[in-house]
Amino acid sequence: MSDTPAEDLKPSFRSDVTVELVKHSAADADVLFAARVSTVGEQSLEELQKDPERSKGLINYLMRDRHGSPFEHNSMTFFISAPIFVFREFMRHRVGWSYNEESGRYRELQPVFYVPDADRKLVQQGRPGKYVFVEGTEEQQALVERTMETSYVQAYEAYQEMLAAGVAREVARSVLPVGLFSSMYATCNARSLMHFLGLRTQHELAKVPSFPQREIEMVGEKMEQEWARLMPLTYAAFNANGRVAP
Ligand SMILES: Cc1cc2nc3c(=O)[nH]c(=O)nc-3n(C[C@H](O)[C@H](O)[C@H](O)COP(=O)(O)OP(=O)(O)OC[C@H]3O[C@@H](n4cnc5c(N)ncnc54)[C@H](O)[C@@H]3O)c2cc1C
Repeated sequence: MSDTPAEDLKPSFRSDVTVELVKHSAADADVLFAARVSTVGEQSLEELQKDPERSKGLINYLMRDRHGSPFEHNSMTFFISAPIFVFREFMRHRVGWSYNEESGRYRELQPVFYVPDADRKLVQQGRPGKYVFVEGTEEQQALVERTMETSYVQAYEAYQEMLAAGVAREVARSVLPVGLFSSMYATCNARSLMHFLGLRTQHELAKVPSFPQREIEMVGEKMEQEWARLMPLTYAAFNANGRVAP
């Protein structure tokens, strides 16, 4: 039997993603502290921050010469809500990331589905590895919206029908599409986040261009905003050195 009140079972459609920084211990001083143990041993926070120009120079040098480990002594935990197809791509990032995602076995999945908004370019032109996305026509936009919504509703009704007949959640969920929203905690450090951003965002300063799917890029852009605020010197050095993770 379904364990969710009927009013919550009405499908809703979203074109955005949510990224919330729920916990962090991350500052430029963490990079300095880790790097300076090489040359001067332990230092107080005051000593570390005494000479801002020197700090900036050191972080830039570490980034440029790809001395990566000082960028690992920090932590950021994000709560992310996004379609399942985004999480499939996200969880390919294995190193320096920890994940916990909501369970389709232990809880009933809610009917929240992804439908791209009018800004999302719909048509791919070119061949794999060398292509661009361009606007769709109004007809294509209407088609995407209509067919997605119809098939989402149908899939969710099938899910509900099976639950109502006593079928286990882990079996009934097979009919749900990858456009269903899921949620997870993802914890990383600045080094693993930089690697992610290098691959999953497009940026004019990137030395090595990447061609991510727009929806994972939307998640990446929101994480980037939070990180930039926490570690401004590291963020500036990342950009200045072509957005290649050290
Ligand atoms: C635009 C784009 C398109 C993609 N298309 C596809 C696709 O069509 N099909 C598909 O399957 N994947 C695809 N991917 C996923 C891609 O292959 C990577 O799995 C993903 O980007 C994670 O990168 P990563 O392995 O470098 O990251 P992480 O897993 O976080 O690893 C970080 C780094 O650790 C090292 N490392 C990790 N594991 C190993 C290992 N086993 N051996 C040696 N070194 C290791 C590497 O240096 C690696 O760069 C795509 C990714 C992008 C960005």
